[in-house]
Amino acid sequence: MKSQNLKLLGLVLLLILFINCKKDQNTEFETKSSKLETSESIEKHFAIVIHGGAGTIKKANMTPKQEKAYREKLQEALNVGYAVLEKGGTSLEAVQKTVNVMEDSPLFNAGKGAVFNSVGKNELDASIMDGKTLNSGAVAGVSHIKNPINAARIVMDSTRHVLLSGKGAEDFAKQHGLTFVDDKYFHTEKRYNQLLKAQEKDKVQLDHTAFNTNELIDDHKYGTVGAVALDKNGNIAAATSTGGMTNKKYGRIGDSPIIGAGTYANNITCGVSCTGTGEYFIRTLAAHEASNLMQYKNLSLQESFKNVIGQIGDLGGDGGMIGLDNEANIAWYFNTEGMYRGYKKSNGENVVHFYEKQN
Ligand code: ASP
Repeated sequence: MKSQNLKLLGLVLLLILFINCKKDQNTEFETKSSKLETSESIEKHFAIVIHGGAGTIKKANMTPKQEKAYREKLQEALNVGYAVLEKGGTSLEAVQKTVNVMEDSPLFNAGKGAVFNSVGKNELDASIMDGKTLNSGAVAGVSHIKNPINAARIVMDSTRHVLLSGKGAEDFAKQHGLTFVDDKYFHTEKRYNQLLKAQEKDKVQLDHTAFNTNELIDDHKYGTVGAVALDKNGNIAAATSTGGMTNKKYGRIGDSPIIGAGTYANNITCGVSCTGTGEYFIRTLAAHEASNLMQYKNLSLQESFKNVIGQIGDLGGDGGMIGLDNEANIAWYFNTEGMYRGYKKSNGENVVHFYEKQN
């Protein structure tokens, strides 16, 4: 009898042990799966941020019609990139397609709306960078490629080089079947007038920069374009495309096609696209400097942008930069009156701004 009781007690104890064990396993499983869920949901954050140039962009100088046109085009560009990311496309594809929208619009100094150089020609620059591999591609001084950012992408994907220029870049783009246009395509009346004004004053002019504050403002409506995106796989890419600066010297190359100056992307820090007086962005290696400040000084993206634009301002340069980090934090900073800019994120945030000094 006694031994039977002992056996029963033993069985009960075993049962309790078994149930507890199961419970622990379940808890462990739940913890693991909730961890998985968290990391999956982090992976799924995605975002795109763009700019359409910085300069003397003031509310007083814009008509409601002009505002509407800019707002709509910037939103269209954001939507195109966002749709790519939402479908699980790469950040590279997103920034390229987004930049294409702005290149095809005469509102911006890139592609169709490119400015004229001092001999009345259009020489366009563009670059793109993959933050996962640090692969990059760029073209400089091209005059007949409709979408220079597409040429930059092909340089990245199909050569061992980073930067092709002038005729060589055009021949290469032709071999790859890119769309070509003749000189007339880039000839817009307003752009040409900008050149004549710049030459009258003997100035090299940023798109949105007034010669003096009384001068309105057809001069200020265009700008270099750029996009930076983070995709669902946590990969960052950045792209920039420009016509450069009005009345620039024939053959002059700005910061936009220079990796590390006008464009940079690195998954461990951030992606950046710049706009402004290119020489200062080259001298400070602005986009790479922002990444370095995050990596080696532990600055946030916003702090690093402020620091870099501060350095540029100290040298006498002006402009701005936009970007995002690998947690989809967005930042921008500029020392001009305004910058056409906006972002759209998977958490539902979607903004387009022109004027306010900073965010
Ligand atoms: N950064 C460009 C350049 O210097 C100009 C611009 O941003 O509008 O070529």
